Amino acid sequence: MKSSTTKSSKPTKTSAEKTTEGVCYLVGAGPGDPGLLTLRGRECLERADVVIYDYLSNAEFLNFAPPKAEKIYAGKTAGRHALTQEQTNELIVKHTREGKRVVRLKGGDPFLFGRGGEEAGELSAEGLRFEIVPGVTSAIGGLAYAGIPVTHRASNAVLTIFTGHEEPGKKASGLDYKSIALAPGTKVMLMGVERLAAITGELAAAGMSATTPVALVRWATTGRHQTLVGTLGTIAALAEEKQFKAPAVAVFGDVVNLRDTLSWFERRPLFGRRIAVTRSRQQSGGLLASLRELGADAYEIPTIRIEPPADKTPFIEAMLDVRAYDWLVFTSPNGVEAFFNAFFASHTDARELGGARIAVIGNGTAKKVREYRYDVDLIPEEFVAESLLKAFKELNVENLRMLLPRAAGAREILAVELENLGAIVDDVPVYQTVPETEDVSGGIRRFREEGADMITFTSASTAAHFMALGLSLPAGMKTASIGPVTTQEMVSLGLIPDVEASQHDIPGLVHAISSFYEGEK
Ligand code: SAH
Repeated sequence: MKSSTTKSSKPTKTSAEKTTEGVCYLVGAGPGDPGLLTLRGRECLERADVVIYDYLSNAEFLNFAPPKAEKIYAGKTAGRHALTQEQTNELIVKHTREGKRVVRLKGGDPFLFGRGGEEAGELSAEGLRFEIVPGVTSAIGGLAYAGIPVTHRASNAVLTIFTGHEEPGKKASGLDYKSIALAPGTKVMLMGVERLAAITGELAAAGMSATTPVALVRWATTGRHQTLVGTLGTIAALAEEKQFKAPAVAVFGDVVNLRDTLSWFERRPLFGRRIAVTRSRQQSGGLLASLRELGADAYEIPTIRIEPPADKTPFIEAMLDVRAYDWLVFTSPNGVEAFFNAFFASHTDARELGGARIAVIGNGTAKKVREYRYDVDLIPEEFVAESLLKAFKELNVENLRMLLPRAAGAREILAVELENLGAIVDDVPVYQTVPETEDVSGGIRRFREEGADMITFTSASTAAHFMALGLSLPAGMKTASIGPVTTQEMVSLGLIPDVEASQHDIPGLVHAISSFYEGEK
């Protein structure tokens, strides 16, 4: 299309498959649970040059975008400066016209009360390319998480979805409450909790029975998900009493009663527990996912980031002579990853690793090794250095060459002790952890604003870096440690762990946290 404009725009560094023509994807982000983003939505994010996102779209999705992609907040929420709809439209048009891949990330489905139709209309009017990526809407998916199907063969065969929010200037009577009230089946309302008393009053006046079951579901599908159940006659007062605020979906109809048997999300063991996970950006996924699987409102506080070591020479030298080692000894999944990334960057044949045997500390480390299709020859029962040493003591390691790829600045006791056993040890820093300064997923903001019931530490350095952030600790917050080394650091920082995993890996920590809350019940 517009070759004159695209030629003048700078070449993009982020995408290998860059088209010369800009395109805007209007992507539905779903109601909040990260698992409810579509595959197509994720694909668009992964290739985005610019992401323009909303208040109700999960900020964690920004991690799918390339680090270099520009991320622009366009949300509309009280107290935070945000863009007007006109500014948002202009921004979308501007970036698309510049030849970029723009992802316009919108909560729920982009075409249900999200002004997606208007945004697409602007792009169309400008002759720009756009695609719509539908999403799971809160009006259906959000209610499903509360155990409420919007239709049911036995009772509700029609579905009406309406907005409780009128355009400013438009009269409250703009909506025909009479036809809504008298329509058969289920009614779902978005954006109306603030005006609940007025709206339920209108519906009652228009003929809806005061005993009609009503449920409100706020922050549906997220860790903050809550449900409030009443009737048309009682719900407004209940919501007022419980301070049940937006964003919430309201559902009117008999299907609400099905919740008694169909509720599932709210019945999971850690439901309602807010757990802050401190870990490096690359590595909190497993813990977050497991805690969420159990129902926790788990979010990530990025404290550290993994980078190449400041001095790469010893690592490069070790790689050149990698066949010469009798043992590779890995003490962390990060070490495994750094090692194999470098190995496969400089070798094309997996056999070039030679005949080295592999020892690891921890199941997580072993799992990482196996991901690279190498087996583990030695894994001590307890996941600490002392236990590994004991195992090596029983083997004769005299004059054997060992490589210890590990974090810069890690403790050297293992190397020293292995040398005491007669081994020839190359103790090589292959990565370093540095403080994370960005708060991409908004975890630090959440911690400040909402606190946490529990915070987890999976290494001594996460504890140290977390404390260095200088955040004030919420009263009564519990702390969980992955094992003795982390605990030691925590104690020295004044954090006495309430929970310490007896198996020092992610599943072990998850188990310890579950047992802790199980015991509290
Ligand atoms: N396009 C969105 C709706 C945008 S209008 C969708 O398809 O879901 C914004 C309204 O959606 C909010 O006021 C609220 O009523 C509802 N909403 C969106 N996400 C929600 C969530 N996670 N929980 C409850 N309500 C939500």
